[in-house]
Amino acid sequence: MRKYVIMGVQGSGKGTQAVRLAEAYELEHISVGDIFRWNVQHHTKLGAQVRRIMERGELVGDDLVEAVVQRRLDEHDWNYGFVVDGFPRNAVQAEFFLESYDIDAVIYVDMPDEEVERRVLARRLCSNCGMDYNLIAHRPQEDDTCDVCGGELARRDDDNPEALAQRLADYHAKTAPVLELFERKEVIVRIDATGTKDDVFAATVSELHLP
Ligand code: AMP
Repeated sequence: MRKYVIMGVQGSGKGTQAVRLAEAYELEHISVGDIFRWNVQHHTKLGAQVRRIMERGELVGDDLVEAVVQRRLDEHDWNYGFVVDGFPRNAVQAEFFLESYDIDAVIYVDMPDEEVERRVLARRLCSNCGMDYNLIAHRPQEDDTCDVCGGELARRDDDNPEALAQRLADYHAKTAPVLELFERKEVIVRIDATGTKDDVFAATVSELHLP
């Protein structure tokens, strides 16, 4: 079975590629952020534990994240492959993962900080229906107005230059050790994420030697 982990900074297009890969090769897309969001929306006990942490943009504690990943992978039917998205995010999580699971490859979606900044600062969300736009790649027909519902477009609160710089610094500090740990045991496939979605997908398929 094809078992992958996908890593990349927020804004690198990692989530999009994970979904595409999952669809094309019948892999289960296991996104830790999505599991948390589902729990918050459905008012579970886990949701209550993580809601405030997520609202502040902080990371959920390692024990809780590991328990969630373990439970999700225990539930998984191992006749199917998967792509784990958003985990591990630091060295402690990576060690836990390496001790417990064998994977085929780590897909590292690599984008220079300047490009992440350019893209993330162009992101807009409809404050009414949640539709997302990008002033570079997907402009609304009328400035600041949602094409679908006419709602006002706004930046996410944490998409400002200061918060983004903080996120990038955090990401590099925590992710470099994860890559080092993985490099000792797993195949790491680095994908240049600066091209179009199709280019990045084609490069991923080729690097992973997928049909
Ligand atoms: P994401 O959708 O990957 O951006 O995750 C949304 C939020 O879920 C993050 O801001 C964290 O609060 C939490 N989260 C997701 N994955 C992890 C992880 N591996 N470790 C800690 N917190 C996480």
